[in-house]
Parts: sequence; structure tokens; C-alpha cells
Amino acid sequence: MNKNSSNIMALAPNTPNKRETVCIFGTGDFGRALGHKIIQSGYPVVFGSRSTQTSSLIPKDAEVLSHAEAAQKAAIIIIAIQRQHYNFLTPLAEILHGKVLVDVSNNLKINQYPESNAEYLAQLVPGAKVVKAFNTVSAWALQSGTLDASRQVFVCGDDMGAKQMVIDIVRALGLTPLDQGSLSAAQEIENYPLQLFPMWKFPILLSLGLTTFFFFYCLTRDVIYPSVYENKDFSFFIAISIPNRICPIMALILLALVYLPGVLAAIIQLYRGTKYRRFPVWLDKWMLCRKQLGLVALAFASLHVLYTLVIPIRSFVRWRISSQIVSQALNNKTEPLNTTNAWLSDSYLALGILGFFLFVLLGITSLPSVSNNVNWREFRFVQSKLGYLTLILCTAHTLVYGGNRFLSPSSYRWYLPNAYMLSLIVPCILLVVKFVLVFPCLDKPLTRIRQGWERNPQYSE
Ligand code: NAP
Repeated sequence: MNKNSSNIMALAPNTPNKRETVCIFGTGDFGRALGHKIIQSGYPVVFGSRSTQTSSLIPKDAEVLSHAEAAQKAAIIIIAIQRQHYNFLTPLAEILHGKVLVDVSNNLKINQYPESNAEYLAQLVPGAKVVKAFNTVSAWALQSGTLDASRQVFVCGDDMGAKQMVIDIVRALGLTPLDQGSLSAAQEIENYPLQLFPMWKFPILLSLGLTTFFFFYCLTRDVIYPSVYENKDFSFFIAISIPNRICPIMALILLALVYLPGVLAAIIQLYRGTKYRRFPVWLDKWMLCRKQLGLVALAFASLHVLYTLVIPIRSFVRWRISSQIVSQALNNKTEPLNTTNAWLSDSYLALGILGFFLFVLLGITSLPSVSNNVNWREFRFVQSKLGYLTLILCTAHTLVYGGNRFLSPSSYRWYLPNAYMLSLIVPCILLVVKFVLVFPCLDKPLTRIRQGWERNPQYSE
């Protein structure tokens, strides 16, 4: 809903009849690209520069004047200059008094300076109204028009009128302004473009860690053990068999980890009797990267499907089938069809197919272009109800795969159980706890808490 409305706002900018002149200090890459875009949106643009000579790179409808002359022509001045050169603004303080100064600057490192660049600018020119904006948009994207990934412009500032003027320009450019509050939010906004896939860090590190663990676990059980005890060389398992064990394990564990924080949050809320106290930071962070965890899980599930498809053409598999046929022929004994095994095998495959289908559906509905077209209830239905159904199907797929081998001593090597058994721990615990939470004696108070009811209001923060 939120996203939809902001998109609509972006498409329907506040269009005053006559647009006010915008001044840009600095004729560098960003200043020129932003100037070009602002002119296209119908605003007159004047550049303030150290050199008033115009060049072919500067948008042809723009004037280039000295800083002082340019500043006098506009109420709003965009400072497209690096922070380390800001001190040239001090002598201009009188001319800049009462003007709106837009700080677009970025740093090279996170928290490079004690205060944000925008706050530093406000200290240098105390009479001006400083607004932070545009730093998350690149000059290249502005110039090439490829703004798909960076349509959002974070805006913050202490003066509401000044912020509104900047928001109007942002909308006029076809971008989506996101008001982040007062100028104290500037440091966070400046750090934002310096972060590298912040939401992906935990899912990727976790996947790498677990994949490494399960690789060595399977290597020990499936390659080293037969080599030591049976003198068999199964090292070629590293190419397909072991990855095809790891991928479904990872898909199942990560899918369970998508839903585990929700259950933990429910338990915490039930225990505290309120929803108005903050969750621990680790849980907050975990909740924020659930979509990424789900997408990594889907990637593992897709790999499992691909690895499974090539099983019939593997040399080892063809050798095993033909040697079984030859041994039956030599012994003149045909093995009768075991219908129990046939049922188990078909059920296992059917559960896997259905589970993967729903997994893909979950992935598709998490795409912004799709999720923007469903309402909040529909999105929750797909991501929660369908998500749990996917988890149930995938867990059942693994349980049926195990079949009657769970308790068989031959499936333990060096006391190590099959790796798929380990993958069942988190999903099974999660599904049991979720099942318990559905009981009315817990579900009813939880629903009330989520609607705002508090057991001990005086204890909430
Ligand atoms: P740039 O190409 O190096 O241009 C900076 C401009 O600052 C120069 O062209 C110059 O303009 C002016 N300048 C340089 N030294 C100065 C001094 N001592 N005194 C006064 N003015 C001076 O840099 P840019 O890429 O355009 O970046 C400008 C600002 O935008 C930076 O703060 C940057 O963090 C921010 N930004 C850039 C991008 C991007 O994609 N490039 C994206 C977001 C934000 P004149 O020669 O006209 O005086």
C-alpha cells in the first residue's frame, strides 16, 4: 500500500504553473547530470562555478555564473561539490542567508567524519536551510535514464518548507521522495550508498558457512568412510552426489529460517504480553532479511532440481542399474515389484514437485513488480500460509525420502547420521511450535496482543 501510494505520488508530481529557478553549485559530473534532468522537468537552471566559461558539456539552456551571482537568482541551491571544498561557502554566508541548500554529497567511507556532510554544511552556513537529498542517485543513472534501481530519493532536513521544496523537485524528476525526518538522519543517508548488499550479508554468510559444514560432513560419510572401510573410490561423488545432497538440505534449513523469527517473535510477545517493546536487535535484523533468506533457499532448491534431472544420464547410475539387471539374470531370479517402495518413491517425488512449485510461487510473489499488485492481505496470505505449506511439503519430501532408513544402523557411519536427518531438525521443531501456537489458548491472546492489547501496560517502553 505504502509502495503503491509513493509510486503514484512519483507519477503525479506537484506541478506549479511556473517553476522557480534552481541553482547548482559545481559543474562536475553530478551537477551537470542533475542540471540536465531538472531542465528537462521544466525548471530554469543556473550554475554557480569557479569558471563562468560555458562548455559543450554543460546543458545548453543553463546559465553559468559566479557562485555569488548564481545564488542570487534562486531560492534553492544544490551543492554538487565534495565536502572538502565546502569552506568556499563561508564568505558567501550573507548571500546564502535564508536559502535552501541541498547537500547531495557522499563520502568514501562509512562514518568518515564525526558529523554528516549536511550537518557540517549547516554549521558553515548557519543562516541557510539545509536539506539532504539526491545522494543515492548516480550521475550515470540520471544521464542514461536507467533509474530503475535507484528511483528512491531519501530526503531529510529540519525546515519543513525547505524539505517540501526539494520533495517537489524530486517528484518533478519522476523520482520517489522518501522523507527520513530531521537533518540528524543525514549520516545514515550518507552511509547508505556505501553499504554493499546490506540485507544479503547474513543470508550469504550463513549459506556459505552451512554449505561448507555440510560439504565436509558428506565428504566424510560418503567418500572418506567407504575409502577407509570398503576400499572404494567414490571421490567422483564430489561433482554431483554431494552437491545434490547439500542443495536440498540448504533449501530446507533456509526456508525454515525464514519462518523461525516470526515464531520467536510470537513467543516473545506472548511472554511479554505486549507488542510495544522492541525485539532484540538480532531478531530485528533477522526479520529484515527473511526475503533474502527465502531467495537463497529458492536458489538451492532450483539447483537440487537441476542436479536431480541429470541423475539418469550419470555413468555411475547407469552402471548400477545394468549390474543389478545382470545379477538378476545370472541368478535367474527376478525381484518382484515392491509396492510399498513404489508408493514411498512416488510420494517422495510428488511432494518434492509440489513443494518446489509453491517455492517458485513464493519467489515470484516476492518480486516488487508482483507484490506491488497484490494487497497487504493477499501478500500475507501467500508469504505466510503458502510459505508454511511449502515448508510442510518440503519437510514431508525429506521425511519420506528417509523412509524406514531413519532407525537403520547401516545409515550411520562413524556414528554420523545421514545429512538429510540433520536438515530436518530446524523445520520439524519450527512446525511443532507453530502447531502449538495455533491452539486457541495461545492464538487468541497473541491476536489480541497484535491488535494492541497489553497484559501489563506499565511495563511497556
Ligand atoms: P566532480 O565531477 O569532481 O565535480 C565537483 C565539482 O566541484 C567540480 O566540477 C567543481 O565545479 C567543483 N569544485 C571542485 N573543487 C572546488 C573548490 N575547491 N571550490 C569550489 N568548487 C570546487 O564531482 P561529482 O561527481 O560531480 O560530485 C559532486 C558531488 O556530488 C559530490 O559531493 C558527490 O559525493 C556527490 N554525488 C555524486 C554522484 C555521482 O554519481 N557522481 C552521485 C551522488 C552524489 P566548478 O569547476 O564548476 O567550480
